[in-house]
Amino acid sequence: MKKSGIKFSDFLISIESVICKHVVLYYLLQFTWGILGTILGYIILLILLPFGKVYTFNHALVLKLNKNTSWGFSVGTVAVAGNNADLSLIYHEYGHTLQNAILGPLAFVLVMFPSFIRYQYRELHYYKKGLKPIKKYDDIWFEFNATHAGFVTFLYLACIKKRKYAKSNKAGILFDVLFINEKSLAYDYKDCVEDWMFE
Ligand SMILES: [Zn+2]
Repeated sequence: MKKSGIKFSDFLISIESVICKHVVLYYLLQFTWGILGTILGYIILLILLPFGKVYTFNHALVLKLNKNTSWGFSVGTVAVAGNNADLSLIYHEYGHTLQNAILGPLAFVLVMFPSFIRYQYRELHYYKKGLKPIKKYDDIWFEFNATHAGFVTFLYLACIKKRKYAKSNKAGILFDVLFINEKSLAYDYKDCVEDWMFE
């Protein structure tokens, strides 16, 4: 990832970490500056609705498809994911919804379109040939930023849940581990907290 990409991601994360904690601000931006992506996301949700079940992740809608795949994508405030998608994919997609709030129509040009092309390129040139891509998936600013912003949100939700489940020893120990925290540690425990993330 180039230096300018890191700087831009740092700039975004400072705003994203505020927006993810304020649902009114989140939807205010999504229904004004980000309205194009928001409308398109809801249209896609309506079309795919018969093929899955809707959950929420920090007030954004997540359509989990009945299909046993692990890929996902997001448009506007809607994330769509295969049935096998894990929590890290869900919060990554949520991170993209935060990008829609901040970048508005620019998200199409700066994130959605390049992300789609890059995904297809990696599928065709590497995975379908049984090869491993040279660069990691998050080695580009918009993917790295989506994961980072999603992870910040995940920890924020975990913090709320910690309060809610404060009386449970299991939760206490679990969240202490989460907050020690290194991303890998939290990742190891993601299955334990997954049920709590969906309301
Ligand atoms: Zn992504």
